[in-house]
Amino acid sequence: MEIKFIKTENPKEKPESSTLGFGKFFTDHMFIMDYSKDEGWHNQRIVPFENISLHPASTVLHYGSEIFEGLKAYRRADGKVQLFRPIENIRRMNSSAERLCLPEIPEDMALEILTKFVSVEQDWTPSAEGTSLYLRPFMFGNDESLGVHAVQNATYMIIASPVGSYYKEGINPVKIMIEAEDVRAVKGGTGYIKCGGNYAASNRAGAKAEAKGYSQVLWLDGVERRYIEEVGAMNVMFKIGDEIVTPALTGSILPGITRKSCIEVLKSKGYTVSERLLSIDELSEALESGKLEEAWGCGTAAVISPIGELCYKDKKYAINGGEIGEVTQMLYDTLTGIQWGKIDDCYGWTCEIK
Ligand SMILES: *Cc1c(COP(=O)(O)O)cnc(C)c1O
Repeated sequence: MEIKFIKTENPKEKPESSTLGFGKFFTDHMFIMDYSKDEGWHNQRIVPFENISLHPASTVLHYGSEIFEGLKAYRRADGKVQLFRPIENIRRMNSSAERLCLPEIPEDMALEILTKFVSVEQDWTPSAEGTSLYLRPFMFGNDESLGVHAVQNATYMIIASPVGSYYKEGINPVKIMIEAEDVRAVKGGTGYIKCGGNYAASNRAGAKAEAKGYSQVLWLDGVERRYIEEVGAMNVMFKIGDEIVTPALTGSILPGITRKSCIEVLKSKGYTVSERLLSIDELSEALESGKLEEAWGCGTAAVISPIGELCYKDKKYAINGGEIGEVTQMLYDTLTGIQWGKIDDCYGWTCEIK
């Protein structure tokens, strides 16, 4: 595969690391390739970052055929840049594509594109503590017709954004509201894939929680509103007595790579981890009796986010006195240590960029 490279003539000034935030700044280039049913994936190119133009009838604008991924490039102490389990993102993107009848990308092609693009943009990976280069691969249906059917034409792109530390003032446990009305996903739907529509559908509950002073919602299952699913855009884990419990991947939950990594780290350190159904009744009981020792969210953006307070139907419960717990801290230190190359990657998860 040939990737055409058109270098920008107007390189941008790189932002100060203290001003980064999330997803506000973009690098000098972007990757694009086109798909048509006849030609397959073609015209791979890295071009200056710029607006794109779409036909007003483009499928994505009407029927929401859009999927995405999120991963980061990390600057190690020795100056090298590395990715964390990128093949997992590629596999998940293909599973998302399959669900929405978008075209899949062969794994080796997708990995070659990703690493080539990061290699071109690697100078944009910031080096201040906790900062990284966030990568956003995405794909959308791009037929120029209003007919409803599996798409014949699609576009795949990668953009990159230097992002700040999630925890500027130390790790602060978050307050989470359990959502008892809106649901995020149902079995048989699209809960297990990363598609834009899932996010559009979750905005209302998120806004309601925010207005009440909570940072995210904890979703319950779509049928009985009884089983815990996940938190906002993170998977969720609880330490109940000696058991670490995380909801099983039943089809409505996003299979997070951070979730998978947490399970592997916990098991390798001898913890008992159960992927199973966890009802709100069992959780309330554990909260009331004090058996719920720790709770945390896990996802690429924050890595590990301790939960200090849960609110269910206006009843508030503090967890671990609102402080980060021991297991939560261990997972944070282990995963961020591997990602930023501060500790030995004994799992073989990292992928150095040349
Ligand atoms: C992306 C995402 C996650 C976390 O997945 P990671 O691979 O760990 O980043 C969890 N839940 C939802 C809904 C997501 O979109």
